[in-house]
Amino acid sequence: MNAVSLSSDLDVANPDVVVIGAGIAGVTAARTLMQKGVSVLVLEARDRIGGRAYTECETFGVPYDHGCAWLHSADKNPLSSLVRDKAEFDVFDFGKREPIYFVHRSRGGNRGGRRATEQEVIEIEKAEDALYDDLWGYDAVKNGDISIYNLRPPRDRWDELAQLRKGPLEAGVDSGCLSVIDYQTQYETGTEWMVPQGLASGIFKALGPVPVKLGTVVEKVDWQGQDIKLQSNQGTMTCRVVLVTVPTGVIADEALTFLPALPQEKMAAFHELPMGLLDKITLQFDIGFKSLVPDANTNEAYLQASKGIRQTDSWHSHLLCPFGEPMSTMFVGGDLARDLTTGNDEAAQDFALSSLASVLGEDVRKFFRKGHKTKWLADPFARGGYAYSNIGKNHLREVARQPVADRLFFAGEALHGKWASMAPGAYETGRQAANEIINSIV
Ligand SMILES: Cc1cc2nc3c(=O)[nH]c(=O)nc-3n(C[C@H](O)[C@H](O)[C@H](O)COP(=O)(O)OP(=O)(O)OC[C@H]3O[C@@H](n4cnc5c(N)ncnc54)[C@H](O)[C@@H]3O)c2cc1C
Repeated sequence: MNAVSLSSDLDVANPDVVVIGAGIAGVTAARTLMQKGVSVLVLEARDRIGGRAYTECETFGVPYDHGCAWLHSADKNPLSSLVRDKAEFDVFDFGKREPIYFVHRSRGGNRGGRRATEQEVIEIEKAEDALYDDLWGYDAVKNGDISIYNLRPPRDRWDELAQLRKGPLEAGVDSGCLSVIDYQTQYETGTEWMVPQGLASGIFKALGPVPVKLGTVVEKVDWQGQDIKLQSNQGTMTCRVVLVTVPTGVIADEALTFLPALPQEKMAAFHELPMGLLDKITLQFDIGFKSLVPDANTNEAYLQASKGIRQTDSWHSHLLCPFGEPMSTMFVGGDLARDLTTGNDEAAQDFALSSLASVLGEDVRKFFRKGHKTKWLADPFARGGYAYSNIGKNHLREVARQPVADRLFFAGEALHGKWASMAPGAYETGRQAANEIINSIV
């Protein structure tokens, strides 16, 4: 992770603005404020910056992003130029790779997979296209918001898989909970980039250092008086303005509270933007693994239909040999991720290994070296992967973002319409909040 200057003492800094949370939203806001000469300090609960954007090299000896890894809709994404041009990191056009599909011989089987036939690939893609057509063709203004599941209840196995991919695998929650309006609001251009040196490293290198006090868990924002008092595990400090960038789950669960309480409709908005769950189970192998993977050197991924541990069909998505490394990252979302998060690490690792072995052959086991699983749900400072909007509640993203009394400001991935759930949403709302703060205090 990029070096960040640390303020040595809370009281000495005496900043006008305190930012709670050193994720992308918080660091972006702090940088914007610093550039305008506003004194600012970031209070961060963890012993590192980055939040859900986190690259480290210790686990596997190569850059490993625990959270965000893709520059989605890279041709429109404001972070693309930051990472490629400002941080001067290489980017890999992921859209150029063809997914490889595997299916199981019998529906619901967990072993004995094979490469999908040409006809099956056509069926998989047809079902995905049909869901997209319905999503974009639905007149939500006229007919009202509905769930993605109700928009196109599955007619066959391929429809079911399209729903599973859109729901748990992409949004971290069942498609029955996903709002069509929320989906229609978001960017999706199809251009996808990855970053071999780590997306999070690139973002924070480009943003630059900010004064941050690590290990500071803010518990209460007391805004009764002229000054705002912040209570944390490190004591109390005061400031004029606060920017809150913690995940919606932290506020909804009242792990961070406000005195007086936030207006009712504002608090309700945080409850209507609950956290979905996406996790990664990453495995590292000896080099021989690559001989088992079709087109291993071109950074292929494949998606496989098989039963999850709840005995229902699921997509297993593995990113195979990222950037030529003998590794695989399995993406698990929604209930499957929840089940694996609550189980032990070995069980999750074995689940991913068995999934791979079922299609690449049992030999994958002999090349296996080590594994790691992320646990975003159990992390008290994340409480999940990213937020989704309940049906008919998409407009509450903006309600949650709106400042209160020109002294409490809010930013974070969940509070952006077009980039909701994604890193650029955090970046854009961080910048927007900083500009609003500048206007309010000068
Ligand atoms: C597995 C996974 C994969 C993802 N993949 C992608 C992807 O490929 N592309 C993409 O664009 N996005 C992706 N995302 C989403 C992206 O990572 C997030 O949208 C983004 O990082 C959120 O930034 P943020 O600043 O809003 O929140 P956070 O990163 O959560 O920052 C909030 C900060 O507040 C701190 N905090 C919390 N509570 C307190 C407290 N009480 N006191 C002080 N500090 C506190 C936290 O520790 C954290 O550092 C992924 C996320 C996950 C989990």
